[in-house]
Amino acid sequence: MELTPKQWRALEAICDTFAPGANGTPGATGMGVPRVLWDAVGRNPREAERKQVAQLLSLWDTRLVTALGGGGLTRFSDLSPARREEVLRAWCDSRIPQRRAAFQALRKGALLFYYMVPGENGRSPVWDRIGYPGPLGPNPDAPRKALEPLAVDGDTTLECDVCVVGSGAGGGTAAGVLAAAGLDVVVVEAGGYYDDEDFDGGEFEGYGRMYMYGGGAATHDQSVALLAGSCLGGGTTINYTTSFRTPDDVREEWAAHGVPAFAGDEYARSLDAVCERLGVNQEHNAPSSREQALQRGLTGLGWHADFMPRNVRGCEQGKVCGYCNYGCRLGAKQSTVKTWLADAYAAGTRILVGTHAERVIVERGAAAGVEARTTGGHRVSVRARAVVSGCGAIHTPALLRRSGLENINIGKHLRLHPATVVWGVYDEEVRPWEGTMQAIYSDQHRYLDGGYGVKYETAAIHPSLLVVFSPWRSAAEHARMMEALPHSVPIGILLRDRDGGEVKVDRAGQPVVKYRLSDYDVHHVRRGVEGAAEIHEAAGAQRVFSSHSRDVSYTPGNGGRARFMQEADACGWDTGRCTYGSFHIMGSARMGGSPETSACNPRGETWEVRGLYVCDGSAFPSASGVNPMISIESIAHMNAAGIADSLR
Ligand SMILES: Cc1cc2nc3c(=O)[nH]c(=O)nc-3n(C[C@H](O)[C@H](O)[C@H](O)COP(=O)(O)OP(=O)(O)OC[C@H]3O[C@@H](n4cnc5c(N)ncnc54)[C@H](O)[C@@H]3O)c2cc1C
Ligand code: SF4
Repeated sequence: MELTPKQWRALEAICDTFAPGANGTPGATGMGVPRVLWDAVGRNPREAERKQVAQLLSLWDTRLVTALGGGGLTRFSDLSPARREEVLRAWCDSRIPQRRAAFQALRKGALLFYYMVPGENGRSPVWDRIGYPGPLGPNPDAPRKALEPLAVDGDTTLECDVCVVGSGAGGGTAAGVLAAAGLDVVVVEAGGYYDDEDFDGGEFEGYGRMYMYGGGAATHDQSVALLAGSCLGGGTTINYTTSFRTPDDVREEWAAHGVPAFAGDEYARSLDAVCERLGVNQEHNAPSSREQALQRGLTGLGWHADFMPRNVRGCEQGKVCGYCNYGCRLGAKQSTVKTWLADAYAAGTRILVGTHAERVIVERGAAAGVEARTTGGHRVSVRARAVVSGCGAIHTPALLRRSGLENINIGKHLRLHPATVVWGVYDEEVRPWEGTMQAIYSDQHRYLDGGYGVKYETAAIHPSLLVVFSPWRSAAEHARMMEALPHSVPIGILLRDRDGGEVKVDRAGQPVVKYRLSDYDVHHVRRGVEGAAEIHEAAGAQRVFSSHSRDVSYTPGNGGRARFMQEADACGWDTGRCTYGSFHIMGSARMGGSPETSACNPRGETWEVRGLYVCDGSAFPSASGVNPMISIESIAHMNAAGIADSLR
């Protein structure tokens, strides 16, 4: 769909109001932002959402819409920059959630691309302005790719024992275990294959190639950004390498959902096997300057702090490391590509990339294979004795529904570990994009109420995450905040959510994610936000601000924190009031003891279709409370061992 001149004018005016350029750097249109933003909208697989954006742009530059935003009876594009900002702020603060959601979508789209696009010669002048060095470039010493995906040049039919859909934490592990058991496995992965030689640390390319919907996925009302890998290795290729085992209390809770194996030796053996294969260790934890602030704050307060277990071998932990979420250029991250998929490939597994599974073939109540289509448009039909869905907790429910499954629990019980950020700005330069991804964490408030509460973690910060988790009140204020990037430290508040959302599936078979934080969960986020502010204060931050849509900030001292919390409450914690992101998507096709409460039985097999198994984050009975990769791989390991037994 191409935009009309009127729609272009609206889009350019919006983008240039968010980012008009400063101190001699071009504004958004000068950086080509409207074009890439519209291309990104085109990548959204939901036609209804693409049309919604086009419709908004059609109406945007009319007198009526400007009047609704308090801009009087003048078209938006004819207003002065200051008046345009007022209109945008009116949308941001609107009482109508849909208008706040539209504001957030426009804000993120315009500003993310403004700070991410490399520009004409590959080096954006905007990066120089904010003191950000930009991408590292490819590693000239990177080895050639070790795997060779199957080339599909025409419509194809394959036969195998097990077809595994998705190659991330769950699918990749299942493939490795099944192949090791001597089964003939075909892996069908929608994303592309990128490895050490492709990783250059660029945000624009990194999100575009390796993240779900180019990094632009969100819940239906934009209240939670949804980040997930979409490439060979799924999330394990781009994640932060934090490797917690499932906590004992969570294992007990999951067992009580009707899967006793979670509390017993079988699951413990899978946890051990996964940690062994991934080389999980606590010996790669040199804190970056960003994490030294976290450590200083926690120590100052006398709060819990510990080193992260990580799945790395020979991790450098230096200047290249903060770019880990765009792939490890050094091959240190033990993704499924480096471990389970490598094992599977060595045992003869065929791997298809750029191949989207459309539905599972069901014959006489049993899985008989998968129908898929390549990005080149070729049909692939995989005949199999069993099928594993490892599409992740957004796409597994969609695949199950497209395949005709009707169990009411498919899509329900979605958990997101919603995360928000409290920022500290420090006198010293921190260069938060550098150093070990995550070396330290705190469980000080992990058990605020029974098993529910928050974890404190940081992560390397490039412009994109500061853009997402910060307010926009005016172009000048925002530019100042971005210019403080080299001095900014994030403290992430990772909520173990008790109450969840749902993945619905539209008529075209595409997932739509609905999620709302309950009052119960908000209460814990609130404590986490205050806790993170306390840590920054103890670490010596000069200024602290939150991820609210208004400027909620303070200078430590003189009762500032109490006012900060009052302002946070006044702004609110709901859709479009406080920014949340989810890096951990779980629970939407959960295992359990009965079809009334779960989508899969205690072996991970769907209640409705024999031989159709779920091996990914959707299988969690509830939120893991810790970063979930090891739990997902362990469930996949346990379930895949059962599948292998049943097929022998
Ligand atoms: C930036 C980031 C950092 C993270 N850091 C950590 C961390 O440090 N520690 C941790 O424990 N967790 C971390 N996580 C979370 C963790 O990586 C994920 O929870 C985990 O990878 C999810 O595993 P999964 O098997 O459910 O799905 P994924 O790993 O997301 O894999 C699903 C795969 O299925 C493919 N797919 C989807 N639909 C189809 C289809 N129809 N046909 C074919 N293929 C399909 C996708 O392209 C994708 O590759 C992080 C996540 C992100 C995004
Ligand atoms: S922290 Fe650095 S070396 Fe370690 S896995 Fe990530 S990018 Fe690779």
